[in-house]
Amino acid sequence: MNELLRKTATEQSKALKNKEVSAVELTKAALERIKDIDEKLGAFNSLTEETALETAKKVDEKIARGEELPLLAGIPLALKDNMNLVGSRTTASSKILENFVSPFNATISQKLLNNLVPILGKANLDEFAMGSSNENSAFKKVHNPWDLNKVPGGSSGGSAASVASCEVTLSLGSDTGGSIRLPASFCGIVGMKPTYGRVSRYGLIAFASSLDQIGPFARTVEDAANLLEVISGHDPKDSTSLNLPVEHYAASLNNDIKGLRVGVIKELMSEGLSEDVQKAVENAIECYKKLGAEIVEISLPNLKHSIGIYYILATAECSSNLARFDGVKYGYRTPDAKNLLEMYTKTRAEGFGPEVKRRIMLGTYALSSGYYDAYYKKAQQMRALVTQDFVEAFKKADILISPTCPNTAFELGAKSNDPLAMYLTDIATISANLAGIPGLSVPAGFDRDGMPIGLQILAPQLQEARLFNAAHKFERANDYYTKLANI
Ligand code: GLN
Repeated sequence: MNELLRKTATEQSKALKNKEVSAVELTKAALERIKDIDEKLGAFNSLTEETALETAKKVDEKIARGEELPLLAGIPLALKDNMNLVGSRTTASSKILENFVSPFNATISQKLLNNLVPILGKANLDEFAMGSSNENSAFKKVHNPWDLNKVPGGSSGGSAASVASCEVTLSLGSDTGGSIRLPASFCGIVGMKPTYGRVSRYGLIAFASSLDQIGPFARTVEDAANLLEVISGHDPKDSTSLNLPVEHYAASLNNDIKGLRVGVIKELMSEGLSEDVQKAVENAIECYKKLGAEIVEISLPNLKHSIGIYYILATAECSSNLARFDGVKYGYRTPDAKNLLEMYTKTRAEGFGPEVKRRIMLGTYALSSGYYDAYYKKAQQMRALVTQDFVEAFKKADILISPTCPNTAFELGAKSNDPLAMYLTDIATISANLAGIPGLSVPAGFDRDGMPIGLQILAPQLQEARLFNAAHKFERANDYYTKLANI
């Protein structure tokens, strides 16, 4: 492997500016790395080599002309394969979209192209982003770069594995209930879910629209902060996107955190927590104390309901969002239907995988007349209580910390026949989506088998700068981020 691929985006940017390497060389090195190892890893559904090299060439031309480079220009990046990029297959890892080619760019893709960030390919995911282990992809499983027999976490497993294995330096994922933070923690990298509305979802294949957010993966907090800066901002094409100026997060990364009130979420520090994960979080608490922070205990009394609430709301929304895949407009259509109705039903029966079908059925049930009030409406009311818990918590603390997941990456297949066990993996991450607040996972150590552990940090809405600052300070007070998977 070209040694430069192990470097952070900041270091690679410097190397480009100093002409130690050209953007085309860097892109080619990354493509080569993907071709070398991805057979073992399964992180990519497809490559977008031409687009990547074309972009890299433009970067080199700019450098040759002595022009200023936009942020992250020339840094190899992967998109989760539920994000549209003109000319690329955008499959959502589903058979129903296997041959769907994007006719337009998602807003995030356009922003990356504008900043001359080479997009190398489309990363594997759980079908339609439904899952926690990436085993629900219709095409292939993703393996964890730290141990190929283990899951990378999901649903953005390909995005996380590709960065953790230095196939690319950066990637984007989507997080509806933890799909960025969980795989980041299982793969030992940084993954961040912004405030709901901070990043436009135009061109992201919708799963649960009141929860979905796009966010960055990187090997350092600084790189993640810079990537968020590139992709965030108001977009008239997404009515939920917030009309607020883009922030330069990197500017406040090194701010002193003396006196910062760090709340430890009580409910996530006890039941079902693995011993090694608990120890890692306790070490993190000690680390924050040394950095001058003030530790407070925080209770989120309604957190225990978050999985129940989420699996009603997310399935209800997905049953509605996925109604568009009917064999008429895009994607797969069954070859042998006798009439229109049969065309719809057969297309969907043949095109969707088992987990997606389960969710559509659960969601349709929760929305049906007679049950709507008992399930959907109740879940909405409970969602407000979860949000209120955070409002109270942030009166006493500036940020909240917890494990990103009670356990580290598990063996492939260990939970694939037990949907409930799989759903419980998201206990620490889901409530941030319900409340629309930003959260990230930062490397916080390793368990006895050498598998990465993630620390989750949450902040109030739109306090991304505070979140990155607290995470960066923790990252630099430790050396976990310098350890890379040996693949
Ligand atoms: N694991 C959760 C689910 O299966 C979250 C997925 C996500 O954030 N996209 O729904």
